[in-house]
Amino acid sequence: MASPFITSQCIICGVGARTMERYPRIACRACHRRAVNAAGERIRFYTPYIAGGFEARLVDEAQTLDDEVTRTNLVYIDGQAVFADEARFGGSVIQPLEDRPDPARKLPPERQHELPPDLLRELP
Ligand SMILES: [Zn+2]
Repeated sequence: MASPFITSQCIICGVGARTMERYPRIACRACHRRAVNAAGERIRFYTPYIAGGFEARLVDEAQTLDDEVTRTNLVYIDGQAVFADEARFGGSVIQPLEDRPDPARKLPPERQHELPPDLLRELP
């Protein structure tokens, strides 16, 4: 049986990163751990339900929920905006913004104006 894993290059630092075919472009684990929110606060990602889901929590603030990142999935590594989300088979994955699925799916229509403008931009 073919392995579901492939090797690609980290989207931030370029090292070889083991990933799944469905996530061909990701941040390596070392870069993943440097993810911060727009205020520069370190964050970690959690799956809040057995069925999945995505939560971002502040590392240095007693794991307080980061509402904005939980809502927008927008994080930064070394100043580069990237997209964090739950991974299909557990854990979390950080991908380029242009590889993200529709981020608006998480918000009801009346709240979609809250998304950062760069998340709403049309993809090529
Ligand atoms: Zn890296």
